[in-house]
Amino acid sequence: MGRFNFPLFILVFLMAAVIAILLTIFTNWTIWITIILSPILSFFGLFIFSSIVDLFENYNQKTAPQSPQHKITSYFYQSKKPDGLLCPSCNSDKIMEIVYGLPAITKEIEQELDNQKITLGGCMIEQDSPMWACALCNLKFDSPPINKNQALQIVWDVIKDYNFPEEYEYKIIESETIEKEWGWVFFHGPGKLIKTNDFKYAVAGNAPYIVLRKNGRLLDTGTAYPIEHYIKSFEETGDPNGFLR
Ligand SMILES: [Zn+2]
Repeated sequence: MGRFNFPLFILVFLMAAVIAILLTIFTNWTIWITIILSPILSFFGLFIFSSIVDLFENYNQKTAPQSPQHKITSYFYQSKKPDGLLCPSCNSDKIMEIVYGLPAITKEIEQELDNQKITLGGCMIEQDSPMWACALCNLKFDSPPINKNQALQIVWDVIKDYNFPEEYEYKIIESETIEKEWGWVFFHGPGKLIKTNDFKYAVAGNAPYIVLRKNGRLLDTGTAYPIEHYIKSFEETGDPNGFLR
């Protein structure tokens, strides 16, 4: 059990006290047996408890983790700024990403706001919401349209950070890609699972990504409903999870 810390020490102490009281009430052992036995029993109980916690944590490691790009809001991804992106109006390279959704204002995000790396765009996103804002002249604009290979690269840049063990052969499942007028829906998962059908390689939470053709914006979907639900939601609200908010 690799999690011995002060709160757990208190827990052991409380468990020992409870066991001591129970032993005293329900047995006629001498008080000394009770005093010696209680800490041993409570440590044993704690060991089982933390083993169960470890088991769950190991299970959770197989869940697709949040990408670093996801840190800004729980809803919308940060986009990767294309190299050499300049303001179309004043040519400045001081370009901020407009972040939509409700960000949890952490220190990190405060810093990105202070350094004019990002700016807030409000909690609603629409299909034509611009991605970038110039820090000098305030122009809001989109990056140029992208092709399918660039879209694949955008998704790959996110899933490569998932850091699944290599044997999972985690990849974009290109045969399942859905192409639409407005962009693509990319599915991804462990290649090994597809090849072997061995559920040892199954992962949870690997929701497909939507990438917009007109500006390369990456949008998260979900796994709670069939993909058609998220596509319809995107087409009607501009947000794959718009129905749920
Ligand atoms: Zn500008």
